[in-house]
Amino acid sequence: MKEDYPYQKRETPTQKDKEFRLGEGKISGYSSVTLGVLSLLAVLAYLYPSYLTTYELRQVYDAQSLQGILKYGMYFSLFFGVLTFWVKKYRMMGTLGILLTTTALLLGGYKVPVDAVDNHRLSLGVDWLILAFMGSALIFITIEKLFPKYKYQVILRNEWGLDLFYFCFNHLAISAIIVYANYHVTHFEWAASASLQEAIQSIPILLQFVTIVICADFVLYWEHRLFHEVKTLWPVHAVHHTVENLDWLAGSRGHFVQVFSERAMVMIPLYLLGASEVALNIYVAFAALQAVLIHCNTSIPFGPLKYIIVTPQFHHWHHSSEKPAIDTNYSAHTILFDWLFNTMHLPGKHWPANYGTTKKLPSTFWGQVIYPLRVFLKNND
Ligand SMILES: [Zn+2]
Ligand SMILES: [Zn+2]
Repeated sequence: MKEDYPYQKRETPTQKDKEFRLGEGKISGYSSVTLGVLSLLAVLAYLYPSYLTTYELRQVYDAQSLQGILKYGMYFSLFFGVLTFWVKKYRMMGTLGILLTTTALLLGGYKVPVDAVDNHRLSLGVDWLILAFMGSALIFITIEKLFPKYKYQVILRNEWGLDLFYFCFNHLAISAIIVYANYHVTHFEWAASASLQEAIQSIPILLQFVTIVICADFVLYWEHRLFHEVKTLWPVHAVHHTVENLDWLAGSRGHFVQVFSERAMVMIPLYLLGASEVALNIYVAFAALQAVLIHCNTSIPFGPLKYIIVTPQFHHWHHSSEKPAIDTNYSAHTILFDWLFNTMHLPGKHWPANYGTTKKLPSTFWGQVIYPLRVFLKNND
């Protein structure tokens, strides 16, 4: 801990015009459109499952019972749409929500027959997008509202649209990511050991899970550190660091090169360990939830756990542009490797006052996509 550093409190002014308040029609308008979009996407996924659903994910959920949720999603979209007319505000949004849901209903709604589908290697993960969006929004916005770090930071904060776009992009690309990661891991077949995998499978599930976490963390730590410390890689990862208002959506911002390489790298230890499916599934769920949580605008108390696992405070410091925090806190799951390799920055109760990159990057999706290439070309001119 740098005792002499003048830690300051972050200023977050109120943004009354961007807040969601009961009785103003805004919640109804946004809810109607959101549910309308999700309903239409869901119906399209039911109509064209080979192209719009994820093979690996379909093994886990029951498409039939999810139609029950879709039914209520549609009803609520219509209900909220009508509500905007009743309060006479946000009627444009209400109309749009009703139109989207009506289209979804006309296309078959929640009654589209669920057929068995074959395994298309490449598809768009529309199902993954819908489920992840609903789950994340529900769980993490609730946590952010109950235990906010920056009380006045709004859901519709600066650049939320950009991060929503990244969220959609990364989730739709899930099957491409899986195909790439599975292909990447074939290069490590030579290193696989049947006896090691048998030994791992023979230990209790909880121990298997802890082993996966530590091994994955080691790989993710070094992958992350290289992205920071190798000059040609930094512009790719810098995109993730352009967020200045962290919340549940902010972690989605990441260059696709980084997203693909991160998943491919973490597959290596998972593949080599050969742990049981239960342990693996627990790890995947844990990793997915933790990745969102650590970006959340929340100071939910972790007690002594904050000196073991990566928490929002720990990862918020990673996103800080303040001097003592630059190139620190690389770990994804536990703080072990940051502690071991002396890159940890967790100054007691302090949180960052400033977030983002020290040098400004483009603020559009495509600007950020080509940014690393532009830097590379400039440096090799
Ligand atoms: Zn980073
Ligand atoms: Zn991050």
